[in-house]
Amino acid sequence: MSQAREVMNEGTKVLIQGGRVIDPAQGLDRVCDVLLAGGRVEAVGEGLGDELIRRGAAGADPGVEVIDARGLWVVPGLIDAHVHLRTPGETHKETLATGTAAAAAGGFTSVVCMPNTRPPLDDPIRVEWLRMKAEREALVRVYPAAAATEGLAGERLAPYGALRAAGAVAVTDDGRPIARAGVMRRVLEYAAAHGLPVLVHAEEPELSAGGAMHEGPVAAAAGMPGIPDTAESVMVARDVLLAERAGAHLHILHVSAENTVSLIRWAKARGVRVTAEVTPHHLLLCDEDVAAAGFDPNWKMNPPLRSAADREALLEAVADGTIDFIATDHAPHHAEDKDLPFPEASFGIVGLETAVALLLDAFVPGIISPSRLVELLSLRPARVFGLPGGTLRPGAPGDVTLIDPHQEWVIDPADFRSLGRNTPFAGRRVRGRVVRTLVGGRTVFQLAGAEVSHR
Ligand SMILES: [Zn+2]
Repeated sequence: MSQAREVMNEGTKVLIQGGRVIDPAQGLDRVCDVLLAGGRVEAVGEGLGDELIRRGAAGADPGVEVIDARGLWVVPGLIDAHVHLRTPGETHKETLATGTAAAAAGGFTSVVCMPNTRPPLDDPIRVEWLRMKAEREALVRVYPAAAATEGLAGERLAPYGALRAAGAVAVTDDGRPIARAGVMRRVLEYAAAHGLPVLVHAEEPELSAGGAMHEGPVAAAAGMPGIPDTAESVMVARDVLLAERAGAHLHILHVSAENTVSLIRWAKARGVRVTAEVTPHHLLLCDEDVAAAGFDPNWKMNPPLRSAADREALLEAVADGTIDFIATDHAPHHAEDKDLPFPEASFGIVGLETAVALLLDAFVPGIISPSRLVELLSLRPARVFGLPGGTLRPGAPGDVTLIDPHQEWVIDPADFRSLGRNTPFAGRRVRGRVVRTLVGGRTVFQLAGAEVSHR
């Protein structure tokens, strides 16, 4: 979002009327109105429309855009802290325009993008370039994470002070582990000195080498090369100990295994500054589903879908707060990278346009309350990375997501704004849909022909 666009919003008011406003930061969950002005939240409460009419004296102010939100949830704009926008270098997979259009359609008003691009974001000039490009081309707010090491090679550290000054919000070699413990120690110490979180893709490369799916009975029966859960958990064990000693903020990306959850729980109890995320697909699916889907490469990602017991442990960890938030690890690929036998296909699936519906449909309200869902998708990622948003408090950015919790639809990758079509959820019927997304008071997505059910 550019400054220019925010200035254009000055004076324009948006009244979101009669929705169920869910804002855990304010302990708020009730039917009321939200008023946006100058790109920010001006007020939240009952009867804000009547007040505007009174102030306008002769009827509603024509400068006010009124959105009828009856029957909808009105929540602080969602934040996806783990997205691959493939820019620069792989724009046949995704561009800033398509990736952020996908984010907007999925209800996300901010994304943190990963630096494993071509070339990688290991240089302040590239981070600055991406930020400037995003101001022109992106529909939502884009916060770059920079590379932890030069060329993502896991050897020499990138210049964290300059990267931070250029706008990086974290450092990570995501997509690759930092294999050498001595390098990881220095990454954590240097990041702590610069106040940057370190996001780790926890994978012990000798344990995971050659693997295609979770190592266990399902892989063994199919003769698929396995990736053991310990490939993840031994690295997490190493890194929480190193982070404790360095006094660094360690964030564990895409947690997949029960062992990892236990280690995070232990580290948090010790007071280590560790946070963690999980993806919707690891909460929803397990290795048995990969076999049932006939080893379709759209079910292949890293870390892999693990056992049913691992999946249960992840859900528990979301419920008890061991896992801080949900992020999609949106990883678009071109068909040529996926249209291969399972062991050879690329790792990764898209997630921005399906996350809200999948989570609502599977877990809300039975396992996750509506308010907790908003914490997991907005408030917590904002707090963990110190990003603007995550609440509808007056003065906060006018980033708002409107969700119809009842609407049923069928996921069809042909309708995605993302250039990626690689999802295991094609054809799945889900309940719950993002119908409108506003960034800085401006509508950046509106579901075509949205029939809102007034309940
Ligand atoms: Zn990763």
